[in-house]
Amino acid sequence: MPYLTSSFGNPSSAHAIGAKARAAVDRARSQVAHLLGADEGEVVFTSCGTESDNWAILAALDIDDQRRHIVTTSVEHDAVRRLCEKLEGRRYSVTWLGVDENGSLDLDELRGSLSPETAVVSVMHANNETGVLFPIREIGAIVKENSNALFHVDGVNAAGKVPIDVKGDHVDLYSISGHKFHAPKGVGALYFRAGLELQPRFIGGGQERGRRAGTEAVHQLVGLGAAAEFVEDLTVTELIRRRRDRLESEILDKIPNSRVNGLQPADFRLPNTSAISFENTNGEAIMAALDREGICVSTGSACASGSHSASHVLTAMNIPYSFTMGSIRFSLSRYTTEEDIEKTLSVLPTIVEKLRAIAA
Ligand code: PLP
Repeated sequence: MPYLTSSFGNPSSAHAIGAKARAAVDRARSQVAHLLGADEGEVVFTSCGTESDNWAILAALDIDDQRRHIVTTSVEHDAVRRLCEKLEGRRYSVTWLGVDENGSLDLDELRGSLSPETAVVSVMHANNETGVLFPIREIGAIVKENSNALFHVDGVNAAGKVPIDVKGDHVDLYSISGHKFHAPKGVGALYFRAGLELQPRFIGGGQERGRRAGTEAVHQLVGLGAAAEFVEDLTVTELIRRRRDRLESEILDKIPNSRVNGLQPADFRLPNTSAISFENTNGEAIMAALDREGICVSTGSACASGSHSASHVLTAMNIPYSFTMGSIRFSLSRYTTEEDIEKTLSVLPTIVEKLRAIAA
């Protein structure tokens, strides 16, 4: 709040109020850098995860016009997927790595896809629909050992939920977005490894050391920094995981013909996400019925809700159609209580049973 009221200065102004705003932006940058295991000079602020993802990929492609090959996966968020589709329609080639029915990548397929023409490999850290974690360190090592490509990671859904170590994981570019870890909406950041010469995102004033022009939204950046510091201690995630596991196992026990999508060992799945499908029912209808009970869930990815086609993630995982249409996603946080879990378990079985009766 102070940055919207008393300390409203522009960080580029040389006077005292400007200096206060500059100090706040510097602090936020250092908080975000700490969350990522990066140096302060390697963090650039953006307006959202989509901007970070688009910038990372386009800037990586700009480095060498002769290298026109992109490697990505078939389960990326639209921020990466739709950009790559668009580039594919122009003069770039794209390798879309598939996943198995648990949502895992085949790392030999990744290795085999790399060539001297590969400019960038872009994979997500955590899948936003299933919570499946890709083995970023292993992927990074494969990319670096077998190509000159830059390694971009869409970490939007991972930040604040699992540890991030951009240096240890051989990452060149890493995207995050504030609203996924309790910061305000409309602010994100892009890590870009020191030494990389990337095209600026916007050209104009010299903000962000000339890399992204535009007067900084100081209050947003302060919020992002504060949230980054707030979520850095991950001890609470064990409690979230226990609640998620209980929710999941009791749903499977109580509701026949239900399945968890992307069920992976603990190290390969976010602690807070549960993607569940109920055969022969409809995810939108379940979501609406839960909403009437005060329980907010998503179908597929939140951004895709409202579209009636099966999620591209579940389709890529080869989940049978009779299940994909009845999919919902629970996202827990440190604010999800035991009572919330109880309430969900008490109403969900009847909701699914009634919807199945109507559909039969
Ligand atoms: N990448 C992933 C994995 C996401 O889950 C999201 C959004 O939910 C984005 C990118 C886009 O982030 P934003 O909505 O901040 O642009």
